[in-house]
Amino acid sequence: PPPAQKSYLDGLNPEQRDAVETIDGPLLVLAGAGTGKTRVLTARVAHILSQGRAYPSQILVVTFTNKAAREMKERIHGMVGDAVEGMPWLGTFHSIGVRILRRHYELVGLKAGFTILDTDDQIRLLKQLLTAEQIDEKRWPARMLASAIDGWKNRGLSPEHVPAGEGAAFAHGRGQPLYAAYQARLKALNAVDFGDLLLEGIRLFRENPDVLAEYHKRFKYLLVDEYQDTNVAQYLWLRLLAQGSRNVCCVGDDDQSIYGWRGAEVDNILRFESDFPGAKVIRLERNYRSTGHILGAAAHLIAFNEGRLGKTLFSEGDAGEKVSVTGAWDSGEEARAIGDEIEALQRASHPLSQIAILVRASFQMREFEDRFVTLGLNYRVIGGPRFYERAEIRDALAYLRCVISPADDLAFERIINVPKRGIGDASIKQLRDVARLDGVPLMEAARRLTESEELKPKLRSTLRGLLESFDRWRVQGETTKHNELAEIVLDESGYTDMWQKDRSAEAAGRLENLKELVRSMEPFESLSGFLEHISLVMDVAEGASEDAVQIMTLHSAKGLEFDTVFLPGWEEGLFPHQRALDEQGKAGLEEERRLAYVGITRARASARVYFASNRRIHGMWNSTVPSRFLDELPDGHVEVQESKGGYGWGGSTGGYGGNSYGNSRFDKAEPFSSSYATPGWQRAQNNRTESQSPRGGYGSARKGGAPMIEGTLIAS
Ligand code: ATP
Ligand code: MG
Repeated sequence: PPPAQKSYLDGLNPEQRDAVETIDGPLLVLAGAGTGKTRVLTARVAHILSQGRAYPSQILVVTFTNKAAREMKERIHGMVGDAVEGMPWLGTFHSIGVRILRRHYELVGLKAGFTILDTDDQIRLLKQLLTAEQIDEKRWPARMLASAIDGWKNRGLSPEHVPAGEGAAFAHGRGQPLYAAYQARLKALNAVDFGDLLLEGIRLFRENPDVLAEYHKRFKYLLVDEYQDTNVAQYLWLRLLAQGSRNVCCVGDDDQSIYGWRGAEVDNILRFESDFPGAKVIRLERNYRSTGHILGAAAHLIAFNEGRLGKTLFSEGDAGEKVSVTGAWDSGEEARAIGDEIEALQRASHPLSQIAILVRASFQMREFEDRFVTLGLNYRVIGGPRFYERAEIRDALAYLRCVISPADDLAFERIINVPKRGIGDASIKQLRDVARLDGVPLMEAARRLTESEELKPKLRSTLRGLLESFDRWRVQGETTKHNELAEIVLDESGYTDMWQKDRSAEAAGRLENLKELVRSMEPFESLSGFLEHISLVMDVAEGASEDAVQIMTLHSAKGLEFDTVFLPGWEEGLFPHQRALDEQGKAGLEEERRLAYVGITRARASARVYFASNRRIHGMWNSTVPSRFLDELPDGHVEVQESKGGYGWGGSTGGYGGNSYGNSRFDKAEPFSSSYATPGWQRAQNNRTESQSPRGGYGSARKGGAPMIEGTLIAS
């Protein structure tokens, strides 16, 4: 074995050290944000290696993202250096799942070089199936079936295991048989989807004890980060593998479970102890990441959740800056204010890469991106495309480009069959041939073809319909404001409808993005002016190595840390998100609150929360209600800032006096109410004197008819 190097143990506290050195037997590290769970996991790998307890190839490490896997690889390398040859099996459940399947494909009925379908391929396949089964896709959209199938796969259920009655809702009880047919199609195509990477792995292990035994011998140590977000299939897969050596270490935080909507089950934490009797549980309580005020605010907020395993968190560092809360007049003002703050930080030599903006919904990014381009601030969108690069935005822009310039072939080709109109690749090729021969743009070629007899009648009328729509939109564009025109185009083309019928997890977000796109057009003079702006924004390349502000969703910020974190959009309906409340009630609210906890705890030194008093939703300006989470932040750790955008705060006795909103310290004034005359800072100060019950003022009836929660105190 290589010589023992123990520098990775330096500075660990006794509990962390215990977690690193307890390498035999099942271990669960259950601890709050920033307590060093990931660091412990990394040090554990170093320890196992440097103690010569296993070769790298005998260690399996599961991370939540590929990026986290890369970072951990680097750290481990930094710890053990070249003393050890090779690297552990280190990656996400999916990437390790595929690696195992590639070695044993024939045992699950696949052939060499099987393909992995992405979501689009999956939908296409399901559509074919529905057509073959003569199921009306308008009534029973393929995406609805896809999400049912994904749900089953997340729960580790192959078709034969789907409980009787489930899936009955789809096409009069045909959900389950369609699932079976889909699996058969996949096999025939020598393909798997994402869910299969684990499901087929589970089947492989169950049906081939010898293969499982081989992996039991191989994997002497198993480690899992972000364990609270594993779904049932991942859990079953892991349990099968771990029952060999039983040297399995999972680290997680129930308060950071934020993927319930994708099938993650926090209960896996509880199952761990029953499935691995005698498991040791270590709790880490010291937070090394954040200053006292940040931690205090986060801990107080999360204490409003009921379903918790409970834990203590403390920090020994400075109290630091209080969490700041700033109200802005609207979302544009919010973006400007944050841009200003970032410029100030930059002037004070803070690296931009240590500044993050964490949004609840991707549509929120648009305003920041536009603002940063104007300011010339480098930014990078993490975990997803930039706003204008999103598929739905590109589609929408392609429609608009076709309206303006009929000769834009790229745009026309992009949308000619989106939504599906039955214009297949062969027909598109035919169009291209005519266009080339006649030396005309595609749209003109299409026009010529519809006038000839070359096309089948159905196709001809479809194409004609599409061309007529574009002609109509062009005429309308002369009298209609361009943002309204955009809405008309998206509606009449069936594009919006396509996403409305879509039941996948991302569909609602895409619709929000489309609305945001339409909204963003408003300030421009004309459609062409807007499109020009887009090309300028898109032209700002993302420099990989450049120092840049990091923009991402709260979901993709998990596990990361930054000096300064901006948290915009803390308004009822956006955060907590209305969808979560509508679809999952209290469980949804608690998951949103965990998301808020994740957000705040990403900050090392400074957490800055924002809310806008007006936001445009569904094309209309709405005055918003500040998020209940604001009221759940404790007074002692929060600093209310002067509001941005020339309006003041509504004190509890302000213009709203007596209505049910009046309990919140963050209620806004109506712009023309009498309280508007009081300078914002002064009202903010007044508000600081309100005494809050531990449950704060959030229980007030925000949305029609919700009951008041007792115990809300306001000093009169
Ligand atoms: P999260 O729940 O957000 O994933 P975590 O529990 O995984 O957090 P880490 O990311 O491992 O926490 O650690 C948080 C920060 O604290 C990191 O910067 C890490 O290097 C630092 N840290 C952890 N333990 C110690 C220690 N004993 N001494 C000094 N710094 C530490
Ligand atoms: Mg971590």
